[in-house]
Amino acid sequence: MRKSRRAIVIGGSLSGLLAARGLSDAYDQVLIFDRDQVPESIGPRRGVPQGRHVHGLLARGAAALDDLFGDVADRLLAAGALGPRRCRTPTSPRQ
Ligand SMILES: Cc1cc2nc3c(=O)[nH]c(=O)nc-3n(C[C@H](O)[C@H](O)[C@H](O)COP(=O)(O)OP(=O)(O)OC[C@H]3O[C@@H](n4cnc5c(N)ncnc54)[C@H](O)[C@@H]3O)c2cc1C
Repeated sequence: MRKSRRAIVIGGSLSGLLAARGLSDAYDQVLIFDRDQVPESIGPRRGVPQGRHVHGLLARGAAALDDLFGDVADRLLAAGALGPRRCRTPTSPRQ
């Protein structure tokens, strides 16, 4: 399939980055515009105030991210995320 030229994504958080990954298969270039500066290190920023809160990633979501980007789950764990054995939800299977 011949690639088109350029796609533009507004917003570079979770949805924007996933959209950009999907678009990258069909476009030569994908530009992401965000009103925030990309931070040097992991941490909260003005455009994503909910980033201060704890977030859970369900198994199917982790698998989808791994399909798109490779070893995302491993990298999240290496960066300090809690694995499923330490972070249970009401729907977690009993162990
Ligand atoms: C307390 C809390 C707990 C949550 N827990 C979970 C959870 O456990 N699991 C889960 O899956 N979800 C959880 N969520 C929901 C999750 O945070 C959101 O669904 C998710 O962050 C939405 O991602 P997004 O990329 O669509 O938007 P956002 O993460 O809000 O990002 C929007 C981006 O667009 C940029 N932007 C905004 N306006 C402009 C503009 N005019 N021009 C350019 N850029 C702009 C912002 O800077 C930002 O980067 C939680 C939310 C809250 C508040």
